[in-house]
Amino acid sequence: MERIQRPRGTYDVTPADAPRWQALEARIRDVARRFGFGELRTPVIEARELFQRTVGESTDIVQKEMYVLRSHGGSGRELVLRPEGTAAAVRAYLENGLHNGPQPAKLFYIQPMFRHERPQAGRYRQHVQFGVEVFGSAEPTADAEVMALALTLFQELGLEGLEIHLNSIGCPRCRPRYREALLEYYRPRAGALCADCRARLETNPLRLLDCKDPNDQIHKEGAPRTVDYLCDECREHFAALRAALDRLGYSYRLDPGLVRGLDYYTRTVFEIKYGGLGAQDTVCGGGRYDGLIELLGGPPTPGVGFGMGLERLLLTLEASGRGLGEPAPLDAFIAVTGGVDRLRALEIAQELRRRGLSADIDHLARSLKAQLRAASRYPARFAVIIGDEEAARGEATLRDLVAGAEERVPLAALPDELARRLGKQGGGRV
Ligand code: ATP
Ligand code: MG
Repeated sequence: MERIQRPRGTYDVTPADAPRWQALEARIRDVARRFGFGELRTPVIEARELFQRTVGESTDIVQKEMYVLRSHGGSGRELVLRPEGTAAAVRAYLENGLHNGPQPAKLFYIQPMFRHERPQAGRYRQHVQFGVEVFGSAEPTADAEVMALALTLFQELGLEGLEIHLNSIGCPRCRPRYREALLEYYRPRAGALCADCRARLETNPLRLLDCKDPNDQIHKEGAPRTVDYLCDECREHFAALRAALDRLGYSYRLDPGLVRGLDYYTRTVFEIKYGGLGAQDTVCGGGRYDGLIELLGGPPTPGVGFGMGLERLLLTLEASGRGLGEPAPLDAFIAVTGGVDRLRALEIAQELRRRGLSADIDHLARSLKAQLRAASRYPARFAVIIGDEEAARGEATLRDLVAGAEERVPLAALPDELARRLGKQGGGRV
């Protein structure tokens, strides 16, 4: 029979990889908690319109990357697999009345995103983002805090050599003037641009600065800079954010060409990159989106946040030689010889598990030798061996699989003895 394979650009997390993910997610949850963020979980499917209206018609996500769902007999709205988290978070904020609760609302999520892209290292069709959003504050301290959260996580993961790129792209008041300048600059150069950029020039010239086509990079160099067109309020906000980052001791690089790929950003935009990752070097991207909540039918509410790709973060950790989440060994493997009632092994394992220890037994009716091999491969810390003789005396041989030493222990004392040796006393479930 032909085997069916997973879709291109996706991956499986097997038990060998899972500890890295679990450890990373645990670190993230801990940092998010210390910064005062609460977790949000939203559906994988959303209305197509949610992203069309917010991310923007002229973006890659909406033009090329969304998975649109077809369902049998469905006559409602068109659904898509969620391509990004911010619009979904805004929808949930409004739909659940969080805008009537304490402000600002500080939310985070760890959720998969779906984009039909060309799969390559660090670029998948399903990827997981850690995202945070602060809804309801226009203060630059909120921008600074969101960035500090990402940087604290990186710091605690032991990552060094990350570069923060920072820019301000203004607001609806100062943007039109900048847009005009950009149009004036690009129009005479249109012939030399890639097809996408030519098509987007008149509708959304800012997108041109975000183009990844190497030929178009040359033109970016001389293009007008957003920071030269900011209104007074935007300029002050940007200065205050930089002062906050300075105060916290974070260094950053001002990157006047940075605009980010989505339409809804205002003022602050930033990216955090790691040089060792090749082309897919952006681990985290975010910024402010003061008009977004209104655009989705909510009251005027400012917001700021980021999205961080966890696959790229794990690749970064690997590239920088940082370990994370070693698989925990099994505490005890219960091995019995042929003459011994196998239910005894099941019972002992169950008792140990109730005590909060991890334990397993042989489920393949293997020989004692094969069971001990299985215990080593697990790897297990201890083997509990019950042969005919041990069984007759109500004892077990406790073999330390790391040190190699072994000792007879009365079965009744086994759970305590194991807990003591593993340093897990008092770990029993109450
Ligand atoms: P890129 O410029 O690399 O396409 P983007 O601007 O589309 O990124 P965002 O929409 O800002 O990315 O998503 C936030 C983060 O999610 C990115 O910085 C990246 O770490 C991660 N990310 C985005 N798309 C993918 C993908 N296809 N596979 C893996 N990670 C991704
Ligand atoms: Mg992209």
